[in-house]
Amino acid sequence: MAGDGLTRTRFAPSPTGLLHLGHAFAALTAARLADPGEFLLRIEDIDRDRCRAAFEAAIFQDLRWLGLDWPVPVMRQSERMPAYAQSLAGLDAMGLLYPCGCRRGDIRAALSAPQEGASVMGPDGLVYPGTCRGRRMAEAGPEDAIRLNADRALAVTGALAFMDKGLRHELSTESFISGIGDVILARRGWGTSYHLAVTVDDAAQGITLVTRGADLFEATWIHVLLQQLLELPTPSYWHHILIRDDEGRRLAKRDDARSLRELRDAGATPSKIRQMIGFDNSTSAPSRTAV
Ligand code: GLU
Repeated sequence: MAGDGLTRTRFAPSPTGLLHLGHAFAALTAARLADPGEFLLRIEDIDRDRCRAAFEAAIFQDLRWLGLDWPVPVMRQSERMPAYAQSLAGLDAMGLLYPCGCRRGDIRAALSAPQEGASVMGPDGLVYPGTCRGRRMAEAGPEDAIRLNADRALAVTGALAFMDKGLRHELSTESFISGIGDVILARRGWGTSYHLAVTVDDAAQGITLVTRGADLFEATWIHVLLQQLLELPTPSYWHHILIRDDEGRRLAKRDDARSLRELRDAGATPSKIRQMIGFDNSTSAPSRTAV
């Protein structure tokens, strides 16, 4: 596992729909960058309302059809709640968490108050103005989310850094506080959030190279902060381009993006799919030289 010197990547889809070309690109990128090494699959199913067993089954089938293979058993985030609770408890013991009952409308209203500065968009939407920052964890109720106090957290860690495609990126404590802020680590009724789950699980699986879309680049600062607070290793990153349609729209944002299944039923072969996303062993496909 971790520390064995092997490159280990993962593809981590949420079973909330059928895989499309953008997913194929992400999965093939992860698999190629793990060669030689190990490519893992992880099912990110913490959003119980939107995840479906049928979509999970379709993920396995479609990836196998594409020619991918991975070790079993596959990690499922819905089975990892104790690990997330333990990490949250650790952060709580450090005095870094607070409960927050604000809804989006409350946040917008607070930000429009005259004494507030300009609204800033962070990786999770509007940077939280800190309305609930004075609340204590002892008063957390079922209607609350749990937020990380960014000021206090960054006082522990100092500035952050990670490697993306072999290049070092840095972020000052001030930039995190003003541009990302007090992020949610446990959504109301969920027991975790994407940020906490992905950080804890990448470490648990010994992932050495996280590959994912460039849209998650800014979110990586949150994960690097959590790694430091939880004393987990920071992997290397490879934020890849997003596959777009002819009009330049991201496939993931389109409801009618054609699924791999539809393309297959219409006669596409796995090598045709690879070709459609520039993955036919040509120079446009990613190589590991810069990792
Ligand atoms: N489940 C996330 C997604 O579908 C994975 C993102 C990541 O790789 O960290 O976008």
